[in-house]
Amino acid sequence: MFSSYKPTWMVEAIYQITPQQLQDQGIKAVLTDLDNTLIAWNNPNGTEELRHWLVQMETAGIPVVVVSNNNAQRVGKAIEPFGLDYIPRALKPFSRGIRQACEKLGLSAEEVVMVGDQLMTDIKAANSAAVRSILVRPVVDTDSWKTQINRFFEAKVMKHLKKKHPDMVWRGDLNDR
Ligand SMILES: [Mg+2]
Repeated sequence: MFSSYKPTWMVEAIYQITPQQLQDQGIKAVLTDLDNTLIAWNNPNGTEELRHWLVQMETAGIPVVVVSNNNAQRVGKAIEPFGLDYIPRALKPFSRGIRQACEKLGLSAEEVVMVGDQLMTDIKAANSAAVRSILVRPVVDTDSWKTQINRFFEAKVMKHLKKKHPDMVWRGDLNDR
């Protein structure tokens, strides 16, 4: 019943994912949520770790595309310092934004991964698009009221998923088993 919310992996933070781990999985591009996955509302310039991670991905030739439900103006402004490509108004939990990103990249669903901090939007959208996914811990604890409502349901879904899939635990990286 809750399998459409099940992430492929659970990793503490996006910057713990290395190009090698992705390449081992046949992943050629990273699609990522913006808020609380890449950046925190109270730190719009991102952390040093994030900047370092983006350089690592660029060097390895792995494109990073932001797939956000926010509008183009907000997303464009937020990621300007990072120079990333983006898909605004992605309509997560629907698959549209992820499919658009794949088209833009010229890659198939198997060749990308979706990273996000929310089961109800990011992970559900990835599963709808048949794309593998990585759930990360939210960068900061404070959320908008809309996200807080999602979090309430998310806690319940997570409880069911963990009961059914004991292997669903937070890991240091994709290979940490
Ligand atoms: Mg988010």
